[in-house]
Amino acid sequence: MDWFGKLDPRKMPAHLFWRAKSLDYESAVPADIAEQSYSVCPRFWYIDARIQCIDCDEDFLFSKEEQKFWYENLKFWIDSFPKRCKRCQKAEKKMRLEINYIQNNYGNPKKTGGNSTAHPRSNLSLRICSCMYP
Ligand SMILES: [Zn+2]
Repeated sequence: MDWFGKLDPRKMPAHLFWRAKSLDYESAVPADIAEQSYSVCPRFWYIDARIQCIDCDEDFLFSKEEQKFWYENLKFWIDSFPKRCKRCQKAEKKMRLEINYIQNNYGNPKKTGGNSTAHPRSNLSLRICSCMYP
């Protein structure tokens, strides 16, 4: 019995590659499952996988080397997969940083504690007003 495709990458459970549109089985390299985060089913092989980006719909490669780093070094959960291509990841990260910057500098309703009625824009408009009418 080949449990979870330990001997043959083609017998790996489909859920391990549920986001992949195609897999290059020829590229398969054995994994070090002692380094992985999993509950029942480890990932015995890393295989070059093509995934569709959720933002731009373009296919990108999640390479076997990236998978090794992702699951063994970063310790990401074994069922997890990247959702975005590199370009969209960068854009998403930049947007998140900008949102954080705005929230940190112009007020964040979550950080105002007791004053739950405060809206980020209320602080922003106050600042703008005090600049315009010093
Ligand atoms: Zn993309």
